[in-house]
Amino acid sequence: MIKEEHPIHRIRQRDDVYAHEILKARPFDGLLLTKPIIDGHTGRTGSHYTSGSRQRLYREGVRDFFRLEGEHEHVVTMGDCGAFTYAGERDVPYKVDEVISFYDGCGFDRGVAPDHIIFGFYRPGSAPDRDTLREFKRRAKITYENARLFLDIHDRMNCSFEPVAVAHGWDAESYARAVSDLIDLGYMRIAMGGMVPLKTVDILDTLKLTKRELKKKTELHLLGVTRVNEMHLFMGSGVTSFDSTSPFFQSFKDVDDNYYLGDDTYVAIRISQVDGNAGMKRAIASGRLDQNLALRMEGRALDLVRKYARRKAKLLPTLEAILEYEALLPNRADRSEDYRRTLEDRPWEHCDCGICETSGVEVILFRGSERNKRRGFHNLAVFRQRMDSLEIPRSVREK
Ligand SMILES: [Zn+2]
Repeated sequence: MIKEEHPIHRIRQRDDVYAHEILKARPFDGLLLTKPIIDGHTGRTGSHYTSGSRQRLYREGVRDFFRLEGEHEHVVTMGDCGAFTYAGERDVPYKVDEVISFYDGCGFDRGVAPDHIIFGFYRPGSAPDRDTLREFKRRAKITYENARLFLDIHDRMNCSFEPVAVAHGWDAESYARAVSDLIDLGYMRIAMGGMVPLKTVDILDTLKLTKRELKKKTELHLLGVTRVNEMHLFMGSGVTSFDSTSPFFQSFKDVDDNYYLGDDTYVAIRISQVDGNAGMKRAIASGRLDQNLALRMEGRALDLVRKYARRKAKLLPTLEAILEYEALLPNRADRSEDYRRTLEDRPWEHCDCGICETSGVEVILFRGSERNKRRGFHNLAVFRQRMDSLEIPRSVREK
């Protein structure tokens, strides 16, 4: 599942193609949409959707909006409230019935009850102080009461989406207790929340303890996984799905793991657009950098890297042109060895995701957002192949 959520996760909804349409194989089994991404979040985040596309989403429903038909019919859609966006607030800013109308109105397959994140995890032998514990319990209670009300209203309104509740805790025991309480309420699907900052060993210990509480048909979802390569460790403990935006966002946010290939990653080659780089624009405006020179060097780096891809230029002059152009940028990191490796290995020639065959070297150039987004889609495809090769259960979610 690829997830759309603020602030770590953001992809602007566009009228162009979706990842599942451009790639040869569907890269995910589900789509997670977050309420504040669609509606905006008063005083904090604006919506990532224009009011036109938001209305279209409400009118057509999430399946038509994302064109989940034909071969994409099996993609599961899930809505949630993006608890990270309001984690710093005292209370959950959404009312339960308002959230239910949102899920129901958009036609989601699954909807997550509004939860409140608990930040902090204590291993055996350590414990939160009294005030912290009081706050943890207050948040756990809000999450539980919301889940109870959520299920009540869901039943009363005869909603067709599957209700999902979130378990939060501050140690393995409190997580296990939260899961057990939600199962008692009648939930079959439970999302484990707030685990993003946890160490792998803490997640594993928590899942181990939680597993004892699970009923035969209970399914666990891991919310917002970042260490995707450790996913297989969690799948044996009742976890049947997870969501992550990491493969997508690493394509342009990560320092060096920008392009996935097999189990490996490559640095994308930065050839910023003179017109699109804030640092360069400042240098030009202040007279420290000659605009024409910058444009010429940008053009030369691009030209050489494209020729190199066609085997019409040699590696060294190509690398030099890239580095010389990059040297115009303030505070640049030395990436010469990484760039050399990317150029030498030509990873874009070894991928058959559906994007790389047509984009060629362009997919690995770090420039405008559309290009970077395409590399993100490619990463999704490679990530999916990794998951499939691990033979773990399939997952769900969007963006
Ligand atoms: Zn590819």
